[in-house]
Amino acid sequence: MKAKAQKTVFANCTLVDVKADCALVKGVDIFVEEGRIADIKPACGDRTGWEVYDATGKFVMPGLVNAHAHLFGTGLPSKVISGGGAQKLVLKLVHSPLGMAVLKMLVASACAQELNSGVTTLRGLGDFRFSDVAVRDALKKGKGKAAGLDLIVSGPAITAPGGHGDGTFAVTASAPEEFASLAAHNAGNGSDLIKICITGGVTDAKKKGEPGEVKMTAEQVKAVCDRAHSLGKKVAAHIQSPKGVEIAALNGVDTVEHGAHMSEEAAAALKARGGAVVATYTPAYPYYKLPPEITKLDEVRRFNSGIVLEAMTQCVKDAYAHGITVAMGTDASCPFSTQTGMWRELVYFARLGGFGAKAAIYAATMGGATAVGRQDVTGSVEKGKRADLLVLAEDPVQNLETLRDPVAVVAGGRLIDRPRVKRNKKIESVLDGLMKEL
Ligand SMILES: [Zn+2]
Repeated sequence: MKAKAQKTVFANCTLVDVKADCALVKGVDIFVEEGRIADIKPACGDRTGWEVYDATGKFVMPGLVNAHAHLFGTGLPSKVISGGGAQKLVLKLVHSPLGMAVLKMLVASACAQELNSGVTTLRGLGDFRFSDVAVRDALKKGKGKAAGLDLIVSGPAITAPGGHGDGTFAVTASAPEEFASLAAHNAGNGSDLIKICITGGVTDAKKKGEPGEVKMTAEQVKAVCDRAHSLGKKVAAHIQSPKGVEIAALNGVDTVEHGAHMSEEAAAALKARGGAVVATYTPAYPYYKLPPEITKLDEVRRFNSGIVLEAMTQCVKDAYAHGITVAMGTDASCPFSTQTGMWRELVYFARLGGFGAKAAIYAATMGGATAVGRQDVTGSVEKGKRADLLVLAEDPVQNLETLRDPVAVVAGGRLIDRPRVKRNKKIESVLDGLMKEL
């Protein structure tokens, strides 16, 4: 016997139309059936046969797309670069027989927290031992606390020896052919896309002014991209300098992560490919602003975080100037980037980047969906798309902080009413203090 299909109408809400400059459409019924948006109608019609979720006085917008996260960590700061007690445990256990079970548990927990805090599409860009792939496969079967979440994963990142993530979430290669083989290896193990680290990062830079030291050659980048594309996989690249952006854009990279100034030539190449840039303010801002006693980072890293922040804003400006898709991600698992902080990324993008609330909301929904290749599936509230919705107490354009505590999250039609979000009080109070300065 076929199970009774769940039919819910989110009744009498105010819809935030992200495709129309966040215009508000009042008095709307959103009909959700079998995980999809079956219809959107004025709230005066017939609801017979539908379970009614009364959304009177509430605002509904699309679920968020966190286009850049790592799923093994909690975001608690620590002397271990990748941060926190849980991560220390990961590094120790990662290659032990127990390691895989622990990793899967951490990744699954991260997914549940992301979902409960409003992220309905999550792209993992660098985790250990394909633990992300295993959790994605479980989610596809509708298993686990994060059921409904659309998880897109890269498996381990790929870089050159000494590159960003070497020793943690990245594996290394030297000859271009070895890079191509690793891309094929990841694809063969179920990665949805390939992640590479072209430049260094804040955490591994040794000198002031060099957060984006180039670690991969143009030939290596091209070898990865050509092989990935031949296998139908896109390539996301960690980049924190203009030279890195140039190498990426001219050699096949699809999404520029973090980013820096884009030359005309680089922007034209990225645009022609239908590429995107993904801003990640969440870890860089606290690194830059907080005292070293709290961040446990040295002066070189603090200084370089400032460079990265400016470079990221420049990259987004260049992208807008050339009509390139802009998305955002939290880089969760980095110190100070928890799995519940996507709402902060929107606030940083709006206020620190200076792009405003509407641009932030667009980048976190339609922009993100486009960047990760899900523009026909999610990113806006439209008939036929996946039912990925946030029910909010206030208009997010007027108050982005309302995203911190969604009234309800709907992911692929699964309703999580009054989601319970686990937060670390200490870290939240530090980050809240910083936010007041914005
Ligand atoms: Zn990252």
